[in-house]
Amino acid sequence: MMEKKIVLPGEQVSTSEELLPGNGTFEEDGIIRATRLGTYTVDEKHKKAIVNPLTSIPVELKRGDIVLAEVNSVRSNMVIADVIHVIGKKRTISGDTNGTLRVSEISNSYTKDPSTEFAPGDIIRAKVTQVKPSVQLATKDRDLGVIKSMCSKCRHPLVKKDKILECKNCNNTERRKYADDYGNYDLKKF
Ligand SMILES: [Zn+2]
Repeated sequence: MMEKKIVLPGEQVSTSEELLPGNGTFEEDGIIRATRLGTYTVDEKHKKAIVNPLTSIPVELKRGDIVLAEVNSVRSNMVIADVIHVIGKKRTISGDTNGTLRVSEISNSYTKDPSTEFAPGDIIRAKVTQVKPSVQLATKDRDLGVIKSMCSKCRHPLVKKDKILECKNCNNTERRKYADDYGNYDLKKF
């Protein structure tokens, strides 16, 4: 039995030469990708790629948890991100999932404007620094920050090249506060 792998929306899980797209996946140009955050499994009998949603047992956020979050909006002094997964816990999250990342908690170096480091739609790995009265996040450590992002012009994935992120489709370059395993991440890390 193969080990279940956690995948993000849009992530490649297989190819149309190997498998058919099943629940939670779609096929585009011969590549089968996940439509949702979930666990990737193969239906061997029907040769289908399947991404099952993470089970719906609620989990409460705790201070010190490492989470995956999707950036919702970037303001002048903070970033608002939706916590979508607690690493190490294959469960959905109960309670408040709306996290705030203050500009001073983004990086160890000085950040003037959060929009130079994050963009809406980015998937980030962050640490929970406070749960109540509001969920606060931080991405200062080297292994925290953006793990996946799309080109703001054409929505293709951005690829890390030297210290910048580059779009292979339109050659646009963008910067981010990325995690050191950007583009090569292990969602079970930590
Ligand atoms: Zn582009």
